[in-house]
Amino acid sequence: MRGAVMHAPGDVRVEKREDPKILAPSDAIIRLSATCICGSDLWPWRGIDKVHGPSPMGHEYVGVVEQIGSEVKTIKVGDFVVGSFFASDNTCEICQAGYQSRCVHAQLMGSEGAQAELLHVPMADGTLVATPGMPDADLVPSLLAASDVLGTGWFGAVAAEAGPGKTVAVVGDGAVGLLAILAAKQLGAERIIAMSRHESRQKLALEFGATDIIDERGDAGVAKIKELTGGLGAHSVVEAVGTQESMMQAIRSTRPGGHVGYVGVSHGVELPGEELFFSGVHLHGGPAPVRRFLPELIDLIWNRKINPGKVFDLELPLDQAAEGYKAMDERRAIKVLLHL
Ligand SMILES: [Zn+2]
Repeated sequence: MRGAVMHAPGDVRVEKREDPKILAPSDAIIRLSATCICGSDLWPWRGIDKVHGPSPMGHEYVGVVEQIGSEVKTIKVGDFVVGSFFASDNTCEICQAGYQSRCVHAQLMGSEGAQAELLHVPMADGTLVATPGMPDADLVPSLLAASDVLGTGWFGAVAAEAGPGKTVAVVGDGAVGLLAILAAKQLGAERIIAMSRHESRQKLALEFGATDIIDERGDAGVAKIKELTGGLGAHSVVEAVGTQESMMQAIRSTRPGGHVGYVGVSHGVELPGEELFFSGVHLHGGPAPVRRFLPELIDLIWNRKINPGKVFDLELPLDQAAEGYKAMDERRAIKVLLHL
């Protein structure tokens, strides 16, 4: 099969990889219908995360089940399935509590390399959710978004306790931030403040349900949020970047007693203890337990209540993955879908 492999920062090649095989009786192999490039794939592309030799890339996937192991019970060959970037058993105490991304048997799907024609999925019964049937082609991008960015934005909004009567601010205008806006809207937030300085992203933020746009960032962004909230700060703030600046912007934009949902993968973030102590905010986040939300998200997409696939503003064939990485790195594209 063909798949994307990163050899070094800025060097992604689509090349021949070995076809994945069933290794354990709980595994499945799926044939991908579409895959995509994640903001987090840009960390190694930019050389911020180390690349240790040729690495298969990609952890977002939808597709049709091609093979199953002998113990797989709920997933059948021919099912169209969505899974998250962590495989999980969905049965342990941590999974049952809704934290499948920290399952005691969690396996990161990134090492499987989902930017490829075929994908090996461990713990298929726990990891995969089948759609009610074969989706119409126009639903595929939205179902693919559910695999990571929608589920992650959704968790950010849930962790920030977005809901009726709440003012929600979102730090970060990548796909996750934009979909946290969509999630906050679905969860009934009264006012949703997007922080973005890019016109095309602002437009999508408004389409997804933002009521206000702030183009200031850092301290100026915090001051603007305070100004919009009677000096108090937002009830709920989603942090969807993962840098020191964005995390502090989120904490400082939150009112005492409010909630920060942080879902940007942390890179070098250090929290000042004394400021945190006096902020009086709740902090909750981490790798999103996307699997918890998949049945609900698939249902909303299937019934055309939400259209998160709009975050894909560039589609390329898998063979042009490198161009997709470049387009996202240079912020020419919000998110790139790779078709097969
Ligand atoms: Zn588990």
